[in-house]
Amino acid sequence: MSNPLTLAHLYGSHMNVYGDRGNVIALKQRCAWRGITLTVIPVEPGADIDWARIDLAFFGGGQDSGQALIANDLLERQGPGLRAAIEDGLVLLAICGGYQLLGHYFLTHSGERLPGLGALDVHTIGGKQRLIGNIVVEAQLGGAPPIRLVGFENHSGRTYHGPGVRPLGRVLVGHGDNGEDGIGGAMYRNTFGCYLHGSLLPKNPQLTDHLISLALQRRYGPDATLAPLDMTLEQRAQRRMVERLGH
Ligand code: GLN
Repeated sequence: MSNPLTLAHLYGSHMNVYGDRGNVIALKQRCAWRGITLTVIPVEPGADIDWARIDLAFFGGGQDSGQALIANDLLERQGPGLRAAIEDGLVLLAICGGYQLLGHYFLTHSGERLPGLGALDVHTIGGKQRLIGNIVVEAQLGGAPPIRLVGFENHSGRTYHGPGVRPLGRVLVGHGDNGEDGIGGAMYRNTFGCYLHGSLLPKNPQLTDHLISLALQRRYGPDATLAPLDMTLEQRAQRRMVERLGH
């Protein structure tokens, strides 16, 4: 066993729709297959976290009501440490409701204004009609050739980008961040946010490995490269889904 990593799972008991927890399982398993121990620390309201010790973080989606329950704890309790860690290159994946709460605010369709962490330069406005269905986003991760991320989206929130974030990718199928500008997800430093449930990482192992690789290099330096691992089956399933959706 070498190069252990630690993952913080943000508010998993309130923010876990469509099995988003599967993302944590995928990270843990692709680490384990390489002899890397990934320790998972649950971050529930009131938790005391030393963010300097955390390599990876995951923040899943949730209903508006779940988001309202944890928004204050996120801001008040974890806010300063988490924001500093993001600036320092913490590797963080946030899906849907979690993604929205990393932005400046989420104005729900019922008119409630949930304050966000403000770590990502995005804001979200809830609409009457939900954006639901299969989604494919073409993304370029690091220097690798573009990949087609497959997933499922279901959100009322429309997320709009400011100049402080880069798009994660381009929507080929589905609605994406707001159904208007073809943007699918956001990136800032090593933080990634998008609307792809699925779970996302088991279906898209290239992204899983990209996240692990970023975390290893941040903790152990540029020589800490990730051993290659077969992903033939997952890629075949990914391709099949993209073809079924007409691409
Ligand atoms: N409650 C948010 C919305 O509807 C997020 C939904 C989700 O995480 N699936 O926009």
